[in-house]
Amino acid sequence: MKKINSVQLPLFIFVAVALGTVFLWNFAVEQEKSHIERVIQLKSDGVNEVISDQLEARAQSLIRMAKRWEIQGRPAQKAWESDASLYVSHYSGYQAIEWVDPTLHARWVVPFKGNESEVNKDLGADEGRASALKASMDRNEILFSRPSKLENGENVIFLSVPIFRNNFFEGYIVGNFRIKEVLDSFLKRESTEGYSIKLFSANDEVYVNKADSFGDAWAQDSEIELYGASLRLRVEPSYNTLHEMQSGLSNLILAAGLTVSVLVALMVYFAQNARIRAKAAEAANTELEREVKDRKRAEAEAERNSAEVTVKNRELEQEISERKRAEEAVEKHASELERSNRELEQFAYVASHDLQEPLRVISGYVQLLAKRYKGKLDPSADEFISFAVDGANRMQVLISDLLAYSRVGSQIKEFRETDCQEVLSSTISNLKPLIDETNAKITATALPKVMADSSQMCQLFQNLIGNAIKYKHEAKYPQVHISSVKKGSEWLFSVKDNGIGIDPKYFDRIFVIFQRLHGKHEYSGTGIGLSICKKIVEKHGGRIWVESQPGEGSTFCFTIPI
Ligand code: ADP
Repeated sequence: MKKINSVQLPLFIFVAVALGTVFLWNFAVEQEKSHIERVIQLKSDGVNEVISDQLEARAQSLIRMAKRWEIQGRPAQKAWESDASLYVSHYSGYQAIEWVDPTLHARWVVPFKGNESEVNKDLGADEGRASALKASMDRNEILFSRPSKLENGENVIFLSVPIFRNNFFEGYIVGNFRIKEVLDSFLKRESTEGYSIKLFSANDEVYVNKADSFGDAWAQDSEIELYGASLRLRVEPSYNTLHEMQSGLSNLILAAGLTVSVLVALMVYFAQNARIRAKAAEAANTELEREVKDRKRAEAEAERNSAEVTVKNRELEQEISERKRAEEAVEKHASELERSNRELEQFAYVASHDLQEPLRVISGYVQLLAKRYKGKLDPSADEFISFAVDGANRMQVLISDLLAYSRVGSQIKEFRETDCQEVLSSTISNLKPLIDETNAKITATALPKVMADSSQMCQLFQNLIGNAIKYKHEAKYPQVHISSVKKGSEWLFSVKDNGIGIDPKYFDRIFVIFQRLHGKHEYSGTGIGLSICKKIVEKHGGRIWVESQPGEGSTFCFTIPI
């Protein structure tokens, strides 16, 4: 079903009620109109009847005079005149009653006064009157003439009654009426207040009672047919009369109906709007309630969260302060460690340096003993002396290595641009005897220039390449490849060999001082070399590590910042 919007229904109701109102109004107007027409018709009928009756009464009196003449013969003039005067005084509107002889001359005239000119007047000279008189005689009928206007402007009408005594024509009884006078007197009897009464002969207006303004549209015409006279009577209501008859009911209906239609339409419109608004308000309320609930929930959640956050914050603060304490402790330990390391290095340096002198004395004298007394004492003495020489030699190596280790920290010079290519060349020439002895093959890619201590870089390369040759595979000639590649902000160097390899579980251990994986009879060494390497790399801000598998060679990698 199509939804009716808030304007359509009120508009529909307005149109429907308005249409009904217009219909009712139209009906009322028609009713009123026919009522008014009926009232005017009644008035017109009344007036028509009065005029007809009065004319008829006058006609009858003249007929009576003629009849009397026909029966009794021509009366004496005096008797006739007194008879006629009676009628003139009895019936209003007469100008005169005349006896007109067959030659159309008016012989007797009543009243005489005022009508002197009528006496012996030849009516045949007036064509209109003559023809009317003749027609009345010819047809032996009472006839009215057509109304005519006198010189003084008065409209008059004549009624002629022919007199036939024993079929012998003896003239006419003629009644002259002043139309205005005769009708005014008639209409006194019928109330014509509020109406205009007009009389027409053909199209000529011969009588009007009032010259006010009247409603032509409401005029009622009727015919007065009497003794050959053909008159048209017109009755018109005055505007006041019309207004009085118009009840105004129709207009009231129209106004009330339209007002009601507007009111009803507005009522429906407002009712509809109110309903729509109520619904919208309800929806908004529900929405609001839901929002309030959501907000409350969110607030509760936020409160819970904030409580949790507070707890967490407190925990975090605690943790931070603990961590700070720990860091402080670590820092303290580190600085203590550094201090003790420095002391230890200092001690190692001083010790190894100071030990060198007595050791040289011991070694010199032991070697002297071996030279002078070999084979001169018992065999055990020779063996003891050789143990002492060997021990002294090892002690010398150990002390020189230890000295080298302790020097790395204390003797570091300013970093200078160092060409690793040159460093590698001098390293190879230092190791030449070992390389020749083992038939080692050394290869390298182009190496970069770095900011470093060149002598320490030389020691680093020497230790790594020396180890790569020393820890060689029994069945292979040693092959060592040195390369470098730029990685981000540092150079990555690698020294790769094809030697015995290292078990990954020892990867960390080998960089610790004095840590060795082999006995002194398998491979000579002090276990200091790699720890020196680690110290040098770290002093240069880099890292060192090894990648290897047992039997598959090792790759020692280290980085130097660019
Ligand atoms: P050493 O004086 O014993 O060589 P280092 O510190 O140089 O002391 O080396 C520590 C240990 O690491 C060595 O004893 C050896 O077992 C192992 N090692 C070092 N370099 C290599 C290598 N290139 N191949 C195999 N093992 C190695």
